[in-house]
Parts: sequence; structure tokens; C-alpha cells
Amino acid sequence: IGLKKYYPIHKGFFNKVQGAVKAVDDISFSVNKGETFGLVGESGCGKSTTGRSLLRLIEPTAGEVWFEGQDITRLTLEEMRKRRREMQIVFQDPFSSLDPRNTVQRILEEPMIVHGVGDARQRRDTVERLADVVGLAKAHLQRYPHQFSGGQRQRIGIARALALQPKLIIADEPVSALDVSIQSQVINLMQDLQKEFGLTYIFIAHDLSVVKHICDRVAVMYLGRIVEITDKYELYAEPQHPYTQALLSAVPEPDPDIRKKRVILQGEVPSPANAPVGCAFNTRCPRVMDVCRNVRPPLLETGPGHLTACHLYDDADTRLA
Ligand code: SF4
Ligand code: MG
Repeated sequence: IGLKKYYPIHKGFFNKVQGAVKAVDDISFSVNKGETFGLVGESGCGKSTTGRSLLRLIEPTAGEVWFEGQDITRLTLEEMRKRRREMQIVFQDPFSSLDPRNTVQRILEEPMIVHGVGDARQRRDTVERLADVVGLAKAHLQRYPHQFSGGQRQRIGIARALALQPKLIIADEPVSALDVSIQSQVINLMQDLQKEFGLTYIFIAHDLSVVKHICDRVAVMYLGRIVEITDKYELYAEPQHPYTQALLSAVPEPDPDIRKKRVILQGEVPSPANAPVGCAFNTRCPRVMDVCRNVRPPLLETGPGHLTACHLYDDADTRLA
């Protein structure tokens, strides 16, 4: 990392899934070292595609991904494979991402074997330490994934992601499949691990209530685009994009002044194959204007560290007039 305390992850691409589906449609954001950056939006908005593209588990169609001063989209596959040690992913469903035929011992050892880390003995020690930090009993290492509860399996998934001492972990809805009581345990664990190992997280979620507890900054996505980026305090107190305001209405809020700024979401998300022209949210937005149906709103600074893509906050109206 050298002198930098900051690395930008910048991307601008169409990710063509089939035909002209813009699963992720020209987005840019940067993540600071040591922070938890949330990517939030309804299912199908492109957040998982974004997470996987950042690691090149899916190849982006265009754009750049900068990680510690290097555009990793330019790396060869072999270079990328090495680099991926530093960038791990935790999946939503720990069950399908853990090989059912392997013991936990083997699952946790696997990434180290693949990357040629340590000898058998060192790997065994590391596995025991990993089990310890995520709160799994050593005696459980000889068991198989199906012998664990969902929460324990997610602990195994997290331990596996930690095996190579990564700097960045992309967590794709890591607690969505878990009971609410278990969710907070896993989130607390992730926060402890972040402090202990200086991890940077990109935390993907479909609603804002989970993000509230863990993220420092949040990007809200809609139909493959980022509509707003802000820190979590502004996000809750001063949401600017009508879509963010709508998402927030699903989060319980005791303060009536804050509640008043919220919008109820109507209609369905249009298919990404057939995204509206102009602002992607124009079919559901209660404040839609003419310009919204023609011009895509750029993501502009609307406050300190606050970016919003909405014509309510730019002068497109007067520009067109
Ligand atoms: Fe609504 Fe227009 Fe803003 Fe889009 S640009 S969110 S349609 S006001
Ligand atoms: Mg997803």
C-alpha cells in the first residue's frame, strides 16, 4: 500500500449478460482502505454482478478496477489469480459455496493449498487459528458443512475468506439467508475481524437496515446504476435521491421529521433489458419531470462527500429550456 491510505476502485462498463442487458451500466466509485462500503439495491440491480466484476470472477465488459494503484483488469489471468489472495468474497448462501464432501478442516485449508501457502503443519495451525477467530470449536473441524447451522456455516465461509490474509473482502449479502438473531452475531464478528486484521469490506445488501449497522458509506444502486453515494449518517438523515428515500421507508424510523422525507415505492423494477431512457427510475419516481424521460442524470456532488444522480439536484431543466 505504501503511502496511500486510499485506493480507488473505478469502473465504467456495460456488462452484457445477453443481448443488450446492462446489468451494470457505467458506474464509478471508490472505497477507502479500512472502511466498510455498502452496495445496496433491490434484487437484480447489479450489485452482485458489480461485486464479482471487481474480482474478475465475471469479466467486466469495459471499465477499470483500481486496487492499490493497479488496474487489475489489465492483469493476465495468472497475475490475477495471485492478486486474488488479497481480495476474497463471502457469498450469501454459505451452504452452496462450501463443498459438502469436504471437512471444514479441508475447506479452510484449500485456499492455502491452491496458493501454495505454508507446509501441511503451518496450514493446520492456521486453520486452528481461523476456527478460533470465527468462534468454531476445534473439534468441529472434522465435520462436514451439513452438520452446521446456517450461522455456523457463514462463520466457516468467513474463515475461508480470511485464510489468505486478504485486504479486501466482498461480502455478497452474507447475512440475508440467516435468522435476524444470528445476523447480528455474524455482523459483530465481521466488525471484530475488520478491526483485528485491518480489513476493507464491500458489503452488498438488498435493504438498508443491515447496512446501517456495519457500513461507513453506502452506494445505492438501481437498474445497474449508482443513484446515490453518501456516508451512512447523511443517508439516513438527508437521503436525496427519491429511490433512496423509498428504500428507507422500509426501515423502521422513530423520528417523525425523518419519516416525513420518505416516499412509498410504487410499481415494479423494469427489466434491465428494457431500462427506461433518461433516469432509470423515471417509471416509479413520484417526482418525475420531463427531463427525466430524456436525459440520464449524472452522479454529481450534492453535498460534502455526497453524490446524487437526480435532475432535482442539477440544472438540466434550465439547460434544456
Ligand atoms: Fe425522479 Fe427525475 Fe430524479 Fe429520476 S431524475 S429520480 S425521475 S426526479
Ligand atoms: Mg445478488
